[in-house]
Amino acid sequence: MHYTTLILGAGAAGLMAAAQAGPGTLLVDHARAPGEKIRISGGGRCNFTNMHCDFGNFLGANPHFHKSALSRYSQWDFLDLVQRHNIPWHEKTLGQLFCDRSARDIVAMLVAETQAAGATLWLQTRLRDLSRTDAGFVASLERDGRSVTVTADNLVVATGGKSIPKMGATGMAYDIARQFNMPVTETRPGLVPLTFPENRFAPLAGVATPVRICHGGASFDEALLFTHRGLSGPAILQISSYWTESESISIDLLPTTALARILRDKRRVEGRRNLTTELTQHLPSRLVEFLGQTLDLKGNLGDLSDARIESLATALGSWTVMPNGSEGYRTAEVTLGGIDTAGLSSASMMSKTVPGLYFIGEAVDVTGWLGGYNFQWAWASGHAAGTAIRTAQARAG
Ligand SMILES: Cc1cc2nc3c(=O)[nH]c(=O)nc-3n(C[C@H](O)[C@H](O)[C@H](O)COP(=O)(O)OP(=O)(O)OC[C@H]3O[C@@H](n4cnc5c(N)ncnc54)[C@H](O)[C@@H]3O)c2cc1C
Repeated sequence: MHYTTLILGAGAAGLMAAAQAGPGTLLVDHARAPGEKIRISGGGRCNFTNMHCDFGNFLGANPHFHKSALSRYSQWDFLDLVQRHNIPWHEKTLGQLFCDRSARDIVAMLVAETQAAGATLWLQTRLRDLSRTDAGFVASLERDGRSVTVTADNLVVATGGKSIPKMGATGMAYDIARQFNMPVTETRPGLVPLTFPENRFAPLAGVATPVRICHGGASFDEALLFTHRGLSGPAILQISSYWTESESISIDLLPTTALARILRDKRRVEGRRNLTTELTQHLPSRLVEFLGQTLDLKGNLGDLSDARIESLATALGSWTVMPNGSEGYRTAEVTLGGIDTAGLSSASMMSKTVPGLYFIGEAVDVTGWLGGYNFQWAWASGHAAGTAIRTAQARAG
């Protein structure tokens, strides 16, 4: 069987590429259903893009690589597609756009687009062997217990990263890249909760508080969540992508409170007020109690010297924690690193050394922030590869 294009992986990027690449496209996936990560994303409502999507919201060895694809297929293009399919949506916070009903709406929309483009979808299909000959790419597939050999002029690798192996993540894209002598950068889990020795935050499990978290040149004003295993919540997930082992992280627990001024003012008028009572006006009481184990929070406001007020405000404004690791790929939303962008064209996502071989989506060393940015990269990179293939086909007549 010969196809113009074989796409491996019917996730976010693969579906988008199939919708663009045109007829003669075969899209295969080992899962039972396409777009499984889309289906579970955003708590089942899929945070499908972000209104504030900007080049600065992405990490990767080359900070410019993603600009081409994202400029040519923006958040507004995807939103336009969503609206054409009459999918109701809303902005939750910080420009994050979610489905009103269900993430299944997005999967159904993309499947409808691939069908309209004339692509064929094979599910529960495994890649057994892959090679490249004069006839193009030769893929030996296993489908319904039978072996099927498919040849294709183009091969698009859209099998994602290593995050959530339980959902079928395999890291196969990196093996294919290596097979074709393409560079792969080191991978690690991103957007992931951080862990601490002896589950030291377990007594605070369930406590959440707004913080400012700064690390590695990035800064986020988001919620911090204490869990049985360590720290989580949007603030930690965001900063985890900038954190590497054995680095400490500084957290401003009171980013919008001028604590020193408040304590000085209250000392004047309410000197007999207890310091911990005052702090519980600004922080969750269980957190204040916990902080009291390491900070001196005893006494009344009237007992506080200016120096002690200043040092307390500094301590709470730069509370330093030292993670011993992360929850890893088991819970990470994304994989940092991957196919080295130095080996790819930023316009088409095609390999610079192997004509007809494309890598898109999470497999590539481009990772977005939390908030719809990773799907936007999947849509944009899939669109770039799909349109490049269709254009080349049209040129070839
Ligand atoms: C719990 C969770 C929630 C998330 N929520 C959001 C969100 O709300 N917004 C956002 O922007 N991002 C979110 N993300 C990130 C987002 O899901 C990914 O960035 C995005 O799915 C990447 O798209 P992709 O097409 O590259 O990979 P995927 O969507 O992972 O698709 C890869 C496909 O390849 C298939 N595959 C893998 N290996 C093989 C193989 N060996 N053979 C055949 N098929 C294979 C898989 O079955 C899958 O269908 C979330 C991630 C997780 C884990």
